[in-house]
Amino acid sequence: MKEMSKTAVFPGSFDPFTLGHESIVLRALGLFDKIIIGIGSNNNKSSFFTAEQRLEMIQNLFAGNDKVEVQYYEELTIKFCRRVGAQFMLRGLRTSSDFEYEKSIAQVNQVMLPEVESVFMLTLPEHASINSTVVRDVLRYGGDVSKFLPANIKIEKYIK
Ligand code: ADP
Repeated sequence: MKEMSKTAVFPGSFDPFTLGHESIVLRALGLFDKIIIGIGSNNNKSSFFTAEQRLEMIQNLFAGNDKVEVQYYEELTIKFCRRVGAQFMLRGLRTSSDFEYEKSIAQVNQVMLPEVESVFMLTLPEHASINSTVVRDVLRYGGDVSKFLPANIKIEKYIK
């Protein structure tokens, strides 16, 4: 029997994409045949980087890796998963509050779309305190965030 290729969606705001996000994707590459990084539109959050900027930054970062794709979506995450044919949804966990939040989302998603299994990966300890909100705050006041972002993300291009 031919095994079905395993596709995971890694959804998030990625505003911006941090070392923590990169590490989750790289570690998960061993589990899946394809990872689609899904940049979701979030009406509750006004973004620092535009959708186009985030898409370009992440696409450039993974340009050499044909197992990673980046897409922007404006719909329910489970609908996006179904549309792209993903069987898994990948999320990263840093803290117990991440866990509580992720648990409720995953359980609601499971009721709505049981075919998509949520998979959680614990952050590496050195990335546990990296968070896009803090990175944005530092950026707003002109601070240096390079230690929190993948070395190949050229953020200067997008900051006035
Ligand atoms: P969202 O707005 O959906 O929380 P984020 O871009 O903040 O989007 O995060 C996307 C995913 O990456 C989430 O599963 C989040 O828990 C995870 N994540 C964020 N920062 C880190 C980190 N430093 N280490 C591991 N996972 C992380």
